[in-house]
Amino acid sequence: MVSIKIRRRIVVSGGAGFLGSHLCELLLTEGHEVLCVDNFFTGSKDNVSHLLGHPCFELLRHDVTFPLYIEADEIYNLACPASPIHYQLDPVQTTKTSVHGAINMLGLAKRIRAKILQASTSEVYGDPLVHPQAENYWGHTNPIGPRACYDEGKRCAETLFFDYRRQHSLSIKVARIFNTYGERMHPNDGRVVSNFIVQALGNKPITIYGDGMQTRSFCYVSDLIGGLYKLMSTGDSITGPINLGNPSEISILELAKTIIGLTNSRSRLERVPVPVDDPQRRKPDVSLAKALLAWEPTVHLKDGLARTITYFDNLLATPRMERIPPRRAASSVGVAGPSLSADAGGAAVGTLRGLDASAS
Ligand code: NAD
Ligand code: UDP
Repeated sequence: MVSIKIRRRIVVSGGAGFLGSHLCELLLTEGHEVLCVDNFFTGSKDNVSHLLGHPCFELLRHDVTFPLYIEADEIYNLACPASPIHYQLDPVQTTKTSVHGAINMLGLAKRIRAKILQASTSEVYGDPLVHPQAENYWGHTNPIGPRACYDEGKRCAETLFFDYRRQHSLSIKVARIFNTYGERMHPNDGRVVSNFIVQALGNKPITIYGDGMQTRSFCYVSDLIGGLYKLMSTGDSITGPINLGNPSEISILELAKTIIGLTNSRSRLERVPVPVDDPQRRKPDVSLAKALLAWEPTVHLKDGLARTITYFDNLLATPRMERIPPRRAASSVGVAGPSLSADAGGAAVGTLRGLDASAS
Protein backbone atom coordinates (compact mmCIF):
# COMPACT_ATOMS: atom_id res chain seq x y z
CA MET A 1 0.00 0.00 0.00
CA VAL A 2 1.29 3.48 -0.83
CA SER A 3 1.45 5.78 2.19
CA ILE A 4 0.56 9.39 1.48
CA LYS A 5 2.42 11.99 3.50
CA ILE A 6 0.75 15.30 4.12
CA ARG A 7 3.10 18.27 4.04
CA ARG A 8 2.63 20.42 7.11
CA ARG A 9 3.88 23.92 7.95
CA ILE A 10 5.82 23.54 11.16
CA VAL A 11 7.34 26.13 13.49
CA VAL A 12 10.35 25.09 15.57
CA SER A 13 11.18 27.68 18.22
CA GLY A 14 14.75 27.24 19.40
CA GLY A 15 15.37 25.56 16.04
CA ALA A 16 18.95 26.81 15.78
CA GLY A 17 19.94 25.04 18.98
CA PHE A 18 21.31 21.57 19.56
CA LEU A 19 18.01 19.62 19.59
CA GLY A 20 16.14 22.11 17.42
CA SER A 21 18.56 21.83 14.51
CA HIS A 22 18.21 18.03 14.48
CA LEU A 23 14.45 18.36 14.65
CA CYS A 24 14.40 20.81 11.69
CA GLU A 25 16.44 18.28 9.73
CA LEU A 26 14.06 15.41 10.49
CA LEU A 27 10.99 17.49 9.62
CA LEU A 28 12.48 18.48 6.26
CA THR A 29 13.39 14.86 5.57
CA GLU A 30 9.78 13.94 6.30
CA GLY A 31 8.70 16.43 3.63
CA HIS A 32 7.40 19.29 5.77
CA GLU A 33 7.89 23.06 5.58
CA VAL A 34 9.92 24.35 8.50
CA LEU A 35 10.09 27.82 10.00
CA CYS A 36 12.98 27.90 12.45
CA VAL A 37 12.52 30.70 15.00
CA ASP A 38 15.46 31.58 17.21
CA ASN A 39 17.12 34.53 18.91
CA PHE A 40 20.55 32.82 18.77
CA PHE A 41 21.10 33.15 22.52
CA THR A 42 22.68 29.71 22.80
CA GLY A 43 21.97 28.48 19.29
CA SER A 44 23.73 29.50 16.14
CA LYS A 45 23.14 29.95 12.43
CA ASP A 46 25.98 27.49 11.93
CA ASN A 47 23.72 24.75 13.33
CA VAL A 48 21.27 25.22 10.46
CA SER A 49 23.54 26.65 7.76
CA HIS A 50 23.31 23.38 5.82
CA LEU A 51 19.51 23.79 5.68
CA LEU A 52 19.44 27.39 4.47
CA GLY A 53 19.28 26.50 0.78
CA HIS A 54 16.45 24.02 1.27
CA PRO A 55 13.28 25.27 -0.48
CA CYS A 56 11.11 24.27 2.49
CA PHE A 57 13.29 25.86 5.18
CA GLU A 58 13.07 29.40 6.58
CA LEU A 59 15.00 31.01 9.41
CA LEU A 60 13.58 33.86 11.48
CA ARG A 61 15.42 35.78 14.19
CA HIS A 62 12.83 36.24 16.90
CA ASP A 63 12.66 36.20 20.67
CA VAL A 64 9.74 34.10 21.94
CA THR A 65 9.23 36.42 24.90
CA PHE A 66 7.54 38.63 22.29
CA PRO A 67 4.40 37.64 20.36
CA LEU A 68 4.72 36.04 16.94
CA TYR A 69 2.16 36.31 14.15
CA ILE A 70 2.51 33.62 11.50
CA GLU A 71 0.54 30.74 10.01
CA ALA A 72 1.39 27.11 10.75
CA ASP A 73 -0.11 23.68 11.40
CA GLU A 74 2.21 22.62 14.21
CA ILE A 75 4.52 24.29 16.71
CA TYR A 76 7.42 22.68 18.56
CA ASN A 77 8.37 24.99 21.43
CA LEU A 78 12.04 24.30 22.18
CA ALA A 79 13.25 27.85 22.78
CA CYS A 80 15.07 27.94 26.11
CA PRO A 81 18.70 27.65 27.15
CA ALA A 82 19.16 24.12 28.48
CA SER A 83 22.56 23.81 30.12
CA PRO A 84 22.94 24.96 33.75
CA ILE A 85 25.67 27.49 32.98
CA HIS A 86 23.62 28.98 30.15
CA TYR A 87 20.30 29.17 31.95
CA GLN A 88 21.91 30.54 35.12
CA LEU A 89 23.72 33.28 33.22
CA ASP A 90 20.56 35.40 33.09
CA PRO A 91 18.04 33.60 35.30
CA VAL A 92 15.31 36.22 34.98
CA GLN A 93 15.45 35.96 31.22
CA THR A 94 15.37 32.15 31.50
CA THR A 95 12.10 32.26 33.43
CA LYS A 96 10.72 34.79 30.97
CA THR A 97 11.69 32.59 28.06
CA SER A 98 9.91 29.59 29.59
CA VAL A 99 6.83 31.40 30.85
CA HIS A 100 6.31 34.32 28.45
CA GLY A 101 7.60 32.11 25.64
CA ALA A 102 4.98 29.46 26.45
CA ILE A 103 2.23 32.09 26.67
CA ASN A 104 3.19 33.56 23.31
CA MET A 105 3.52 30.20 21.57
CA LEU A 106 0.25 28.97 23.11
CA GLY A 107 -1.44 32.22 22.11
CA LEU A 108 -0.22 31.69 18.57
CA ALA A 109 -1.43 28.06 18.59
CA LYS A 110 -4.81 29.17 19.88
CA ARG A 111 -5.20 31.84 17.19
CA ILE A 112 -4.26 29.57 14.30
CA ARG A 113 -5.58 26.33 15.90
CA ALA A 114 -2.22 24.63 15.58
CA LYS A 115 -1.03 21.57 17.48
CA ILE A 116 1.70 22.53 19.93
CA LEU A 117 4.44 20.53 21.63
CA GLN A 118 6.39 21.70 24.65
CA ALA A 119 9.98 20.61 25.25
CA SER A 120 9.74 20.11 28.99
CA THR A 121 12.42 18.46 31.04
CA SER A 122 13.32 15.87 33.65
CA GLU A 123 14.27 18.90 35.76
CA VAL A 124 10.57 19.20 36.66
CA TYR A 125 11.28 16.21 38.95
CA GLY A 126 14.04 18.23 40.66
CA ASP A 127 16.25 16.12 42.94
CA PRO A 128 13.83 13.20 42.83
CA LEU A 129 12.77 11.15 45.84
CA VAL A 130 11.27 8.51 43.55
CA HIS A 131 13.40 6.37 41.29
CA PRO A 132 13.09 5.86 38.36
CA GLN A 133 10.91 8.87 37.59
CA ALA A 134 7.48 8.22 36.11
CA GLU A 135 5.16 10.91 34.84
CA ASN A 136 2.84 10.69 37.84
CA TYR A 137 5.64 11.78 40.21
CA TRP A 138 5.15 15.46 41.11
CA GLY A 139 8.79 16.13 41.79
CA HIS A 140 11.02 17.59 44.45
CA THR A 141 12.24 21.01 43.35
CA ASN A 142 13.71 23.95 45.22
CA PRO A 143 11.70 27.00 44.11
CA ILE A 144 14.32 29.50 45.31
CA GLY A 145 17.59 27.85 44.32
CA PRO A 146 19.85 28.65 41.35
CA ARG A 147 18.24 25.95 39.18
CA ALA A 148 14.73 27.24 39.89
CA CYS A 149 14.69 29.70 36.98
CA TYR A 150 14.78 26.66 34.71
CA ASP A 151 12.93 24.04 36.79
CA GLU A 152 10.10 26.27 37.91
CA GLY A 153 9.95 28.05 34.55
CA LYS A 154 9.44 24.69 32.85
CA ARG A 155 6.93 23.58 35.49
CA CYS A 156 4.93 26.77 34.97
CA ALA A 157 5.09 26.25 31.20
CA GLU A 158 3.56 22.78 31.71
CA THR A 159 0.80 24.38 33.82
CA LEU A 160 0.09 26.84 31.03
CA PHE A 161 -0.06 24.07 28.44
CA PHE A 162 -2.64 22.14 30.46
CA ASP A 163 -4.67 25.27 31.25
CA TYR A 164 -4.78 26.19 27.56
CA ARG A 165 -5.94 22.63 26.92
CA ARG A 166 -8.69 22.83 29.56
CA GLN A 167 -9.72 26.40 28.81
CA HIS A 168 -9.30 26.58 25.03
CA SER A 169 -9.37 22.90 23.95
CA LEU A 170 -5.94 23.23 22.40
CA SER A 171 -4.19 20.17 21.04
CA ILE A 172 -1.11 19.97 23.28
CA LYS A 173 1.82 17.58 23.72
CA VAL A 174 4.26 17.80 26.62
CA ALA A 175 7.52 15.85 26.39
CA ARG A 176 9.71 15.56 29.49
CA ILE A 177 13.14 15.26 27.95
CA PHE A 178 15.95 13.59 29.92
CA ASN A 179 19.66 14.32 29.35
CA THR A 180 20.33 14.15 25.64
CA TYR A 181 23.69 14.37 23.90
CA GLY A 182 25.14 14.26 20.42
CA GLU A 183 26.50 16.28 17.54
CA ARG A 184 26.00 20.09 17.72
CA MET A 185 26.05 20.32 21.48
CA HIS A 186 27.77 23.57 22.31
CA PRO A 187 31.40 22.67 23.13
CA ASN A 188 31.48 25.11 26.01
CA ASP A 189 28.01 24.76 27.47
CA GLY A 190 29.22 23.05 30.64
CA ARG A 191 27.04 19.98 30.18
CA VAL A 192 28.75 16.85 31.32
CA VAL A 193 29.07 15.04 28.00
CA SER A 194 30.46 18.03 26.10
CA ASN A 195 32.72 18.98 29.03
CA PHE A 196 34.20 15.50 29.39
CA ILE A 197 34.72 14.97 25.66
CA VAL A 198 36.39 18.34 25.15
CA GLN A 199 38.56 17.78 28.22
CA ALA A 200 39.48 14.24 27.19
CA LEU A 201 40.35 15.22 23.63
CA GLY A 202 42.67 17.90 25.01
CA ASN A 203 44.18 15.53 27.61
CA LYS A 204 43.00 18.05 30.21
CA PRO A 205 41.73 17.09 33.68
CA ILE A 206 38.18 15.70 33.69
CA THR A 207 36.15 17.79 36.13
CA ILE A 208 34.11 15.50 38.38
CA TYR A 209 31.65 17.52 40.43
CA GLY A 210 31.47 16.03 43.91
CA ASP A 211 32.22 12.34 44.27
CA GLY A 212 30.90 11.49 40.81
CA MET A 213 28.44 8.97 42.25
CA GLN A 214 25.45 11.02 41.06
CA THR A 215 23.76 9.40 38.09
CA ARG A 216 22.17 10.43 34.82
CA SER A 217 20.68 8.48 31.91
CA PHE A 218 21.89 9.71 28.54
CA CYS A 219 19.86 9.58 25.35
CA TYR A 220 21.39 9.97 21.91
CA VAL A 221 19.94 12.85 19.91
CA SER A 222 18.43 10.86 17.01
CA ASP A 223 16.48 8.68 19.45
CA LEU A 224 15.10 11.72 21.23
CA ILE A 225 14.13 13.58 18.07
CA GLY A 226 12.33 10.49 16.78
CA GLY A 227 10.36 10.45 20.04
CA LEU A 228 9.35 14.10 19.72
CA TYR A 229 8.16 13.51 16.17
CA LYS A 230 6.15 10.44 17.20
CA LEU A 231 4.56 12.33 20.06
CA MET A 232 3.51 15.19 17.77
CA SER A 233 1.99 12.65 15.37
CA THR A 234 -0.41 11.28 17.99
CA GLY A 235 -4.11 12.12 18.13
CA ASP A 236 -5.72 14.81 20.21
CA SER A 237 -6.34 12.65 23.25
CA ILE A 238 -2.62 12.11 23.89
CA THR A 239 -1.25 15.13 25.69
CA GLY A 240 1.50 13.75 27.88
CA PRO A 241 3.43 14.60 29.87
CA ILE A 242 5.52 11.78 28.47
CA ASN A 243 9.10 11.00 29.50
CA LEU A 244 11.53 10.77 26.60
CA GLY A 245 14.99 9.56 27.46
CA ASN A 246 17.23 6.55 27.71
CA PRO A 247 16.63 4.53 30.88
CA SER A 248 20.18 3.21 30.96
CA GLU A 249 21.60 4.85 34.11
CA ILE A 250 25.30 5.56 34.66
CA SER A 251 27.28 7.37 37.35
CA ILE A 252 29.18 10.47 36.31
CA LEU A 253 32.43 8.77 37.36
CA GLU A 254 31.69 5.82 35.10
CA LEU A 255 30.83 8.20 32.26
CA ALA A 256 34.20 9.92 32.69
CA LYS A 257 36.04 6.59 32.53
CA THR A 258 34.05 5.54 29.45
CA ILE A 259 34.92 8.76 27.62
CA ILE A 260 38.60 8.52 28.61
CA GLY A 261 38.60 4.99 27.20
CA LEU A 262 36.87 5.92 23.95
CA THR A 263 39.22 8.84 23.32
CA ASN A 264 42.42 7.06 24.45
CA SER A 265 42.94 10.13 26.57
CA ARG A 266 45.73 10.79 29.08
CA SER A 267 43.33 12.95 31.15
CA ARG A 268 43.25 12.46 34.89
CA LEU A 269 40.17 12.90 37.07
CA GLU A 270 39.89 16.13 39.06
CA ARG A 271 37.36 16.56 41.88
CA VAL A 272 35.65 19.97 42.03
CA PRO A 273 32.79 21.14 44.27
CA VAL A 274 29.34 19.94 43.34
CA PRO A 275 26.91 22.66 42.16
CA VAL A 276 24.02 23.66 44.43
CA ASP A 277 20.93 21.44 44.13
CA ASP A 278 22.61 19.03 41.73
CA PRO A 279 20.15 16.11 41.42
CA GLN A 280 21.60 12.88 42.83
CA ARG A 281 19.88 10.32 40.64
CA ARG A 282 17.98 10.53 37.41
CA LYS A 283 16.50 7.80 35.27
CA PRO A 284 13.33 7.92 33.19
CA ASP A 285 10.57 5.39 33.40
CA VAL A 286 9.70 5.20 29.70
CA SER A 287 6.83 2.70 29.94
CA LEU A 288 4.33 5.32 28.84
CA ALA A 289 6.32 6.25 25.74
CA LYS A 290 6.68 2.57 24.89
CA ALA A 291 2.95 1.97 25.29
CA LEU A 292 1.59 5.11 23.63
CA LEU A 293 4.23 5.87 21.00
CA ALA A 294 5.83 2.45 20.46
CA TRP A 295 9.03 4.34 21.11
CA GLU A 296 12.21 3.44 22.92
CA PRO A 297 15.82 4.46 22.44
CA THR A 298 17.98 2.22 20.27
CA VAL A 299 21.43 3.86 20.29
CA HIS A 300 23.81 2.41 22.88
CA LEU A 301 25.75 4.94 24.96
CA LYS A 302 29.16 3.88 23.63
CA ASP A 303 27.98 4.20 19.99
CA GLY A 304 26.41 7.60 20.57
CA LEU A 305 29.48 8.82 22.44
CA ALA A 306 31.77 7.61 19.63
CA ARG A 307 29.80 9.70 17.10
CA THR A 308 29.80 12.70 19.42
CA ILE A 309 33.54 12.38 19.99
CA THR A 310 34.16 12.36 16.23
CA TYR A 311 32.04 15.51 15.95
CA PHE A 312 33.96 17.37 18.67
CA ASP A 313 37.27 16.15 17.33
CA ASN A 314 36.50 17.75 13.96
CA LEU A 315 35.04 20.86 15.56
CA LEU A 316 38.05 21.51 17.76
CA ALA A 317 40.27 21.26 14.71
CA THR A 318 38.22 24.04 13.07
CA PRO A 319 39.22 27.57 14.06
CA ARG A 320 35.95 29.35 13.19
CA MET A 321 33.71 28.87 16.19
CA GLU A 322 31.38 30.74 18.43
CA ARG A 323 32.17 29.92 22.02
CA ILE A 324 31.32 31.33 25.39
CA PRO A 325 34.30 32.59 27.35
CA PRO A 326 34.59 29.90 30.06
CA ARG A 327 35.33 32.16 33.02
CA ARG A 328 32.37 34.44 32.39
CA ALA A 329 29.95 31.58 31.91
CA ALA A 330 31.25 29.53 34.83
CA SER A 331 31.25 32.38 37.32
CA SER A 332 27.48 32.33 37.79
CA VAL A 333 27.45 28.78 39.12
CA GLY A 334 30.91 28.56 40.58
CA VAL A 335 32.02 25.59 38.50
CA ALA A 336 34.46 25.37 35.65
CA GLY A 337 33.70 24.82 32.01
CA PRO A 338 36.24 22.94 29.95
CA SER A 339 39.43 24.71 29.13
CA LEU A 340 39.38 25.17 25.38
CA SER A 341 42.19 25.56 22.92
CA ALA A 342 43.53 28.96 21.97
CA ASP A 343 41.02 29.51 19.17
CA ALA A 344 38.24 29.72 21.75
CA GLY A 345 39.05 33.41 21.65
CA GLY A 346 36.63 36.27 22.11
CA ALA A 347 34.41 35.50 19.15
CA ALA A 348 31.63 34.40 21.40
CA VAL A 349 31.37 37.53 23.51
CA GLY A 350 27.88 38.87 23.00
CA THR A 351 26.53 35.75 21.27
CA LEU A 352 24.69 35.05 24.50
CA ARG A 353 21.82 37.46 24.30
CA GLY A 354 21.25 36.86 28.01
CA LEU A 355 24.25 39.08 28.71
CA ASP A 356 21.89 41.86 27.71
CA ALA A 357 19.19 41.63 30.33
CA SER A 358 17.40 44.68 29.01
CA ALA A 359 14.17 43.12 27.69
CA SER A 360 11.88 43.60 30.63
P1 NAD B 1 20.07 24.77 23.20
O1 NAD B 1 20.50 25.82 24.16
O2 NAD B 1 21.06 24.21 22.27
O3 NAD B 1 18.85 25.28 22.33
C1 NAD B 1 17.93 26.23 22.77
C2 NAD B 1 17.64 27.17 21.62
O4 NAD B 1 16.66 28.13 22.04
C3 NAD B 1 18.87 27.95 21.17
O5 NAD B 1 18.97 27.94 19.77
C4 NAD B 1 18.60 29.36 21.69
O6 NAD B 1 19.24 30.36 20.94
C5 NAD B 1 17.09 29.43 21.62
N1 NAD B 1 16.51 30.41 22.51
C6 NAD B 1 16.79 30.62 23.82
N2 NAD B 1 16.04 31.61 24.30
C7 NAD B 1 15.24 32.03 23.27
C8 NAD B 1 14.26 33.03 23.14
N3 NAD B 1 13.91 33.82 24.18
N4 NAD B 1 13.66 33.21 21.93
C9 NAD B 1 14.01 32.42 20.88
N5 NAD B 1 14.94 31.47 20.94
C10 NAD B 1 15.55 31.26 22.14
O7 NAD B 1 19.41 23.62 24.07
P2 NAD B 1 18.86 22.20 23.63
O8 NAD B 1 19.63 21.17 24.37
O9 NAD B 1 18.74 22.11 22.17
O10 NAD B 1 17.41 22.23 24.29
C11 NAD B 1 16.25 22.51 23.51
C12 NAD B 1 15.03 22.40 24.40
O11 NAD B 1 14.94 21.09 24.94
C13 NAD B 1 15.02 23.36 25.57
O12 NAD B 1 13.72 23.85 25.75
C14 NAD B 1 15.43 22.51 26.74
O13 NAD B 1 14.89 22.97 27.94
C15 NAD B 1 14.84 21.16 26.35
N6 NAD B 1 15.59 20.05 26.98
C16 NAD B 1 16.82 19.70 26.52
C17 NAD B 1 17.52 18.68 27.16
C18 NAD B 1 18.87 18.21 26.69
O14 NAD B 1 19.45 17.33 27.34
N7 NAD B 1 19.40 18.70 25.60
C19 NAD B 1 16.96 18.04 28.29
C20 NAD B 1 15.71 18.47 28.74
C21 NAD B 1 15.02 19.47 28.06
N1 UDP C 1 29.08 17.26 35.91
C1 UDP C 1 30.37 16.94 36.27
N2 UDP C 1 31.40 17.54 35.61
C2 UDP C 1 31.19 18.44 34.62
C3 UDP C 1 29.86 18.76 34.25
C4 UDP C 1 28.83 18.16 34.93
O1 UDP C 1 30.60 16.11 37.16
O2 UDP C 1 32.20 18.94 34.07
C5 UDP C 1 27.95 16.58 36.59
C6 UDP C 1 26.90 17.51 37.19
O3 UDP C 1 27.27 17.85 38.51
C7 UDP C 1 25.66 16.64 37.14
C8 UDP C 1 25.87 15.79 35.90
O4 UDP C 1 27.25 15.84 35.60
O5 UDP C 1 25.60 15.82 38.27
C9 UDP C 1 25.08 16.24 34.69
O6 UDP C 1 25.32 17.61 34.51
P1 UDP C 1 24.74 18.41 33.27
O7 UDP C 1 25.04 19.84 33.51
O8 UDP C 1 25.19 17.80 32.00
O9 UDP C 1 23.16 18.15 33.30
P2 UDP C 1 22.05 18.25 34.43
O10 UDP C 1 22.68 18.45 35.77
O11 UDP C 1 21.21 19.39 34.01
O12 UDP C 1 21.38 16.94 34.34
